[in-house]
Amino acid sequence: MDLTTIKSMIRIKEDFPKEGISFKDITPVINDAKAFRYVIKKMCEDFYGRDIDLVVGPEARGFIMGSAMAYELGTGFVPVRKPGKLPADVEKYEYQLEYGMDALEIHRDAIRPGQRVIIVDDLLATGGTVSATAHLVESLGGIVEAFVFLIELTELGGRERLKNYDVKSLVEYP
Ligand code: AMP
Repeated sequence: MDLTTIKSMIRIKEDFPKEGISFKDITPVINDAKAFRYVIKKMCEDFYGRDIDLVVGPEARGFIMGSAMAYELGTGFVPVRKPGKLPADVEKYEYQLEYGMDALEIHRDAIRPGQRVIIVDDLLATGGTVSATAHLVESLGGIVEAFVFLIELTELGGRERLKNYDVKSLVEYP
């Protein structure tokens, strides 16, 4: 298995879910046992033996990649969700989209001050989702060690937005 093969397995669907979006579908990658295992190990590569307490992932594909990484690294996993989904006391962060606002929530007891976390999602586009996730982590006193993605869309400015952090991705598209 190699990253060229992984890239060939990512299904591209133009104009989904709306016109102008070139959707990168990772389901063929996670459907294949060897490919799934390969990408998870690659995404974990820099973090074996490091002092990482938690993997944090936004819904929904951040749950898939993030919980597999947490299992592989032997850490806990923390879900970050759209409002109204988490049952206990939450911290909420609202952020601007191109049109309108969005918000994400995290359980307040999910991270203790000083815990080291990595934030994981399937894809980095503008970086809005993971920046909001980092705000939530930091508002609870967590330390963001790195962001990790399977896919990076390099022309949407995500890496620039995360320039004060360590950012890792496996496969790039313009
Ligand atoms: P952003 O907040 O702009 O970095 O967008 C990242 C989030 O939106 C991730 O959770 C992705 O799963 C999803 N996303 C954004 N653009 C795409 C795309 N072209 N294909 C698949 N997922 C995308």
